[in-house]
This record gives sequence, C-alpha cells and structure tokens, in this order.
Amino acid sequence: MESVNQSIISKNIAQIRQTLPENVCLVAVTKYHDVAETQAAVDAGVHDLGENKVQDMIAKQPQITGDVRWHFIGHLQSNKVKYLIGNVFLIHSVSSLKLIRTIEKESAKRDAVTDILLQFNLAEEDTKSGFMADELDEALALCEDCPHIRLSGLMCIGPMTKNPSDILKIFAQLKQMYDTIKATYLNGVNSIRFLSMGMTDDYPIAVSAGSNMVRIGRKIFYDEEKQHG
Ligand SMILES: *Cc1c(COP(=O)(O)O)cnc(C)c1O
Repeated sequence: MESVNQSIISKNIAQIRQTLPENVCLVAVTKYHDVAETQAAVDAGVHDLGENKVQDMIAKQPQITGDVRWHFIGHLQSNKVKYLIGNVFLIHSVSSLKLIRTIEKESAKRDAVTDILLQFNLAEEDTKSGFMADELDEALALCEDCPHIRLSGLMCIGPMTKNPSDILKIFAQLKQMYDTIKATYLNGVNSIRFLSMGMTDDYPIAVSAGSNMVRIGRKIFYDEEKQHG
C-alpha cells in the first residue's frame, strides 16, 4: 500500500483553519479516500468527516480511531436510510418530503432522534437534488410533525459558475432563509445551528456569506504546489 502523505494533509488542514473563523466547523470530505488517508485527516486534528455513500461510511466507521463525528452529505436513497440511523452525527442532504418521512419512520423504530439539514437547490439546477425555495414551509411543517427528527439547519451546494457574485447571491439567499427559520421555527425554540455551505472552490465566499460549516475534500488531500507545477 502506498504510504499516506501525512505532512501534506496536515499542512493543508492547518492552512484551511487559518482562514476559517473560530465558529466555522470544518468537515473533511473523505469520499474518495481510503481508510489510511481518512485516518491521516483525523490525526491532523479533524473531528468531522463527510461521506457521500452509505456503504463506504459504514465500512470505514469501525476502522477509524479517534473522536469523530460522521456526516452524511451525499444523495440518499430511502432504502438506505435505515443503515444511517444511530450511526451518523448529521445528515446534510435531506432533499425531499419522502426522505423526511423515511428518516422519521426509521428513527422511530430505533427510538432515536436524527439530526438533519434540509438541502436546497436555489439555483434550480437539474443536476442537483434539493428543495426549491418555495417548498421550505411545507418541509418545515412536516419536520414539526416528526418527533424523531431534529431539524438542525440548511445546506446547499454552490451553483455551477465561476462568477463570485452569482455564487455569493445563492449563499446569501440560503443565509437569509437560515436566519428566518432560526428565529421562527417552533416559535424560535429550536435546534437550528448549522448552515452548511462551501466546498474547496467556493468556501471563502460561503464563509463571507455566513456559513458555519464547510465541507472540504480536494483542498485537504491534494498537494496544491504539485497540481500547479
Ligand atoms: C464532494 C463533496 C464536497 C467536497 O468537494 P471538494 O470540491 O472536494 O471540496 C462537499 N460537499 C458535497 C455534497 C460533496 O459531494
């Protein structure tokens, strides 16, 4: 097996942390990386790991040592929900009413309460899952009726553009929705605390818009100098 470059991973994580405000949670997205590389990120001080395939996450979990919170960030099929319940700190990618209902049902079976984020597709891109902005109220109403779901915030993936002002517009819109529901959901007595937005290419913009949870993969695991060299 190829040895893991711990020093590059550590250097990248230190560099990212320097640019992140204290209150922003760094989720290391390990979806394309094996157990050794994932462990290297944990050894470099990361406490939050993001995976996008249920099988990969379940397979990795017993092999990683340390104080880790697991985040599910990928497209989620209803028939896979049962494997996540009780094994995940937060599901970021809840993108349909059907999924909310399934998470409630499976959580109830296990007597668990599951923390979720509602994923929004504000740029209305066909390639992305997520609620439309005008579906917010219906999703909130359903969550209110689900005692085994704890709504913890909102998530989005930045739009497919390199134009910073177009990206900022989307992130600012989600921030506004977040502020509104934090103040009003369950009359303001709620657990809303995570605004998950920002990846390798757009996380500085997301943080400037008020993100408090960034999901970063490539920038952690690759040597930037080599890529440009
Ligand atoms: C892969 C992925 C990320 C990380 O993307 P990078 O560009 O590698 O930082 C973040 N969020 C989601 C939902 C992803 O699928």
